[in-house]
Amino acid sequence: MSKKSEENRQKQRQDTRLVHPPYDPMSLHGFVNPPVVHGSTVLFESTAAMSGRQSLAYSYGLRGTPTTTALEDQLSELEGAFGTVLVPSGLAAVTLPLLAFVSAGDHVLIVDSVYTPTRVFCDKMLARLGASVEYFDPHIGAGIADLMRPETSVVFLESPGSNTFEIMDVKAVAAIAREHGAVTMLDNTWATPLLFRPLEHGVDLSIHALTKYPGGHSDLLMGSVSANEATYKRLRDAQMQLGVNAAPDDTFLVIRGLKTMGVRLRHHERSALALATWLEARSEVSAVLHPALPSFPDHAAFKNQFSGASGLFAVSLDCDVAAAKRFLDALDIFGLGYSWGGHESLAVLVDLSDRTVATSRRDRPLIRLQIGLEDPEDLKADLERGFAAI
Ligand SMILES: *Cc1c(COP(=O)(O)O)cnc(C)c1O
Repeated sequence: MSKKSEENRQKQRQDTRLVHPPYDPMSLHGFVNPPVVHGSTVLFESTAAMSGRQSLAYSYGLRGTPTTTALEDQLSELEGAFGTVLVPSGLAAVTLPLLAFVSAGDHVLIVDSVYTPTRVFCDKMLARLGASVEYFDPHIGAGIADLMRPETSVVFLESPGSNTFEIMDVKAVAAIAREHGAVTMLDNTWATPLLFRPLEHGVDLSIHALTKYPGGHSDLLMGSVSANEATYKRLRDAQMQLGVNAAPDDTFLVIRGLKTMGVRLRHHERSALALATWLEARSEVSAVLHPALPSFPDHAAFKNQFSGASGLFAVSLDCDVAAAKRFLDALDIFGLGYSWGGHESLAVLVDLSDRTVATSRRDRPLIRLQIGLEDPEDLKADLERGFAAI
């Protein structure tokens, strides 16, 4: 990239950066998008080049290709990170940094509103490897200081919390963790780097399920971890020790997905907020958990930290579980299925039985809604079908 365009880039906003990634088309005869490189073996000019391979950009397919580099560089720029690694799923983007920074005998602090498979990994695998795992209240803020021990190596955050959407005071928690020498990591999947950038709040590593909004079409699984300079090398070493990276065709789909993520997110945001507001006025609804609603208990904390909302929220229904299941079974446009961030709307009955600290919202059935790119009026009509079945 020329020096001039490098200087112009510094001033560009996120939407422009999504459409014009740091990849330089002139590095491949002017083709707008990076090549999709399938490859394991990389050939060397000579034995001397082979011995000095650590200084080469590419030496083996597992270590990366021009395709994976293009996506890593774009995600690093969007997150304000020193470097990014890719892994085959969002869950692998959670487990890789935990394996990189947790050792036997360590104490690990995990937010209680965490994505359930993250909790399962900590309770099963980290515990078996000899770490002690403790869960804390998402609203703990500076109170995290009372839980820090000399052997606390990692504080794991997710904000908003999975399914219940609690907003954490990220800056306060990250600052105290750093004071005590612990590494912080935050699952930033809900917000994408467009709406929240954890590293700007003092977090060391930002985790994404690229499966969700970056992919955007329910057709791939991938994850990323973007790290600051202090944590990057250990993260990259762990990736290579475990032998994981992302597949070329899926990487290409995420590179493609990012181009439209800005416009898609704004549609998701607008439709979800309109439906959340509409749902709030329904007599069948006891609460709508959407951080951008003024009625949401953490709304002020949300406005302080996020530049907008995505399209995932939850509704607490004023009925029993059997009626909530009738509601779901009556839906026609909303699919019943896991994951989210794709083009299509989804609904799922949430299970909060694994929570040990953040145990509110368990008195009534909670339904999580992913609002897709359909016309919101049709979605409204679909939800009416559900209400009629209660
Ligand atoms: C979906 C999700 C993941 C895992 O992503 P997969 O690609 O499905 O493994 C991780 N964290 C959060 C918050 C998620 O919603």
